[in-house]
Amino acid sequence: MSALPADTEHLQTRLLHEDVGLASGFVAFPTPVYRASTVVFPDLATLRDFDLHSDDQWRYGLHQTPTSATLARRLAMIEGGEFCLLQPSGLAAISNVYFALVKQGDDVLVPDNAYQPNRDHGDWLARDFGITVRYYDPMIGAGIRDLIQPNTRLIWIEAPGSVTMEVPDVPAITAVAREAGAVTAIDNTYSAGLGFKPFDHGCDISMQALTKYQSGGSDVLMGALITRDAALHARLKLARMRLGLGVSQDDCSLVLRSLATLALRYGAHDRAALGLATWLKLRPEVSAVLHPGLPDCPGHACWRRDFSHAGGLFSVVFNETYTPGQIDAFVEGLRLFKIGFSWGGAYSLAVPYALDGTMRTARAWEHKGTLVRFFVGLESDEDLRADLEQSLVKHLGA
Ligand SMILES: *Cc1c(COP(=O)(O)O)cnc(C)c1O
Repeated sequence: MSALPADTEHLQTRLLHEDVGLASGFVAFPTPVYRASTVVFPDLATLRDFDLHSDDQWRYGLHQTPTSATLARRLAMIEGGEFCLLQPSGLAAISNVYFALVKQGDDVLVPDNAYQPNRDHGDWLARDFGITVRYYDPMIGAGIRDLIQPNTRLIWIEAPGSVTMEVPDVPAITAVAREAGAVTAIDNTYSAGLGFKPFDHGCDISMQALTKYQSGGSDVLMGALITRDAALHARLKLARMRLGLGVSQDDCSLVLRSLATLALRYGAHDRAALGLATWLKLRPEVSAVLHPGLPDCPGHACWRRDFSHAGGLFSVVFNETYTPGQIDAFVEGLRLFKIGFSWGGAYSLAVPYALDGTMRTARAWEHKGTLVRFFVGLESDEDLRADLEQSLVKHLGA
């Protein structure tokens, strides 16, 4: 910006333009919060020089500022990616993938264990926008070859599915997809990018709901798409720009603050959840514990081969002798585990799910008992175990 003319006398103009002359040399740890709609260009040549393929340009507050760009680069670093785009929610990131990669006449494959709003989004596009969406058994592995059509553009993967927890054979699926020229997008929220490295297993896009572990505070909604391929990143970026998706710089600052403790928190969730899952497996009320680190969970062998940690989320199937009403009473009888969906924060959660035909369409769900999904927060695991025990005894009467 050109300097204030020396003869400017009006306060209003000086208030807007005069340099207040701070001393230089201030250094602190936090990333500054640059809130901006207008980005000011040094000259017109810079303004006219737009390059979709550069992430180093400052163009418009919606696209990026130094605050959001810092967060994006750190997130790419976690997963071993090259590029990262931030979105206002995890679901917006999912939507960004669809709008960037598929058009009328294209086909998409979605695993039967996908995040339910992803299914809804795909079904909506199939109903109203002329694509086809087909569901596959998450345990299909290389058998996905038989489902791929010449017009299959996009294959979603979720490892594990965040309710039913099957762990797919990711490298088998991505190898077949690559041969067939279909892009693979993994919803990698479950592992926060720490427990599973999608690019080492052939995935093209890693989608994260930063709302979960990266925020860690149950107070921010944000999503991300991480890639290694510059051309793919540019396609996603163009769609994101056209859809008008952006994020709050204050929210970015909150997530940046939480990233410092991400691995420590994730490790604590992981240890406590595995301990509680192992304990629940010994309880007489329980028929199966769907924790990827335990053998009841379909795909446990893939998890052992491909994952380093599981984190705080797992599900339990209760004996089919209990009615759904009894399981509801057990969940409502918990004192420390709260009832709520968005996991990844400090607070433990429990939600019962009825896995009817609307949630499973490719392969029937094999369990008859009611499933409860638990998220193990950062409370003392002894207190959490006592809480589970008191409600089991009181409501399921063992
Ligand atoms: C929460 C979640 C999302 C969506 O994230 P939002 O930010 O809540 O939209 C997507 N996938 C999985 C697996 C999730 O748990």
